[in-house]
Parts: sequence; structure tokens; C-alpha cells
Amino acid sequence: MSIVDLTSMAEAQAELRKEINARLAKLQNESSEYCFQCAKCTAGCEAHKLLELEPHKIVALLKRGLIDEMVNSDVIWTCMSCFKCWERCPQKVAPVEILNALKNMAVASGKQIPGKYTAMLQSVLSICLIQDVQEVTTHEGKTMKRDTLGLPPLSKPTDASKFQMVLTKLAVEKI
Ligand code: SF4
Ligand code: SF4
Repeated sequence: MSIVDLTSMAEAQAELRKEINARLAKLQNESSEYCFQCAKCTAGCEAHKLLELEPHKIVALLKRGLIDEMVNSDVIWTCMSCFKCWERCPQKVAPVEILNALKNMAVASGKQIPGKYTAMLQSVLSICLIQDVQEVTTHEGKTMKRDTLGLPPLSKPTDASKFQMVLTKLAVEKI
């Protein structure tokens, strides 16, 4: 069932809408109120093609104040934070930041989050990367590492323990 089906009878949550819009105002120049529902964001969204995320509907639902339905929906976790929706938007609206705010609200209210997110956070805390460096396989079936492809090593924080401490503090404060 889509978010829209779930929310057709829901009441608007003006306070939560205000809270999300205040978070967005700190991050972006343009308000979600400028969205005119052209759906250019959805047309370019990778998660839409694979997982039926529709960022233009997320903006529309925010404008209507239907927040709880989105916070409770698994759909918000399908956004892969590629920022393409923000780049494509002719009105400079950032659906990705609305989704980030919704995910933060879901975590803050103790909702179950997908296991992959926890695994990514653990990986960042232990090796400072969302996942360890992967090898790639060529069309000929040969396995290549970054250095054999002529790529430089990935940069990491010089002081890993300080980085981990700051990240943990930030995560706790955000929650
Ligand atoms: S591209 Fe921008 S204006 Fe168009 S629907 Fe998406 S958020 Fe709204
Ligand atoms: S940031 Fe999320 S919503 Fe925006 S285009 Fe990428 S996957 Fe879609």
C-alpha cells in the first residue's frame, strides 16, 4: 500500500511540518512551499526506478502536513541520498533533505531502522568508511584493486579515535 493510500483520511500535523521546514531552512535556500509538482525529481530518482520512492509525493505530503504516515513508512529508507532530486529541481527544493529529516524523526521516536543502516554506522565507526574498499571484476573475469586501476588510496581521518568520538557525540546529540 502506498503512503498516499494510508494518508487519505489523515489530519495535518502543523507543528511537525513547521519543525521539518525549520530544519530545511537551515540547510537550503528555497522552501518546499515553492514545489509546483513537476515531478522532475521523481523522474531522475534511482530509488523510484527500483523501489518506488516518489520524492515529489514526499514534498506534497509535507506540504499537507502528513508527517506521521511518512515517518512510519518503509519507503523513506529507500532513499540512497544521491542528491539528484535536489540537483534536478527547477525550484531548488531538496526532497533529499526532507527524507533525511523524516529518517531522523523516525530514529528519534525509537522506530526500527533497517539493519543495513546500523551496519553502515558500525563500519564508519570502526574503519571510517561506510564499507570496506571493494575489488571490481572486469568483463574478462579479472579481479582488480584500486591501486591496480591507478586510483589513489581513499583518504581517512588522520586521527581516527577523535573522529569516532565526534561522530558518536553528534549521533547522540541529533537523537
Ligand atoms: S522537481 Fe522540485 S518542483 Fe518539481 S516536484 Fe520535485 S521538488 Fe517539486
Ligand atoms: S536523494 Fe533520494 S529521493 Fe533524491 S533522487 Fe536520490 S534516491 Fe531519490
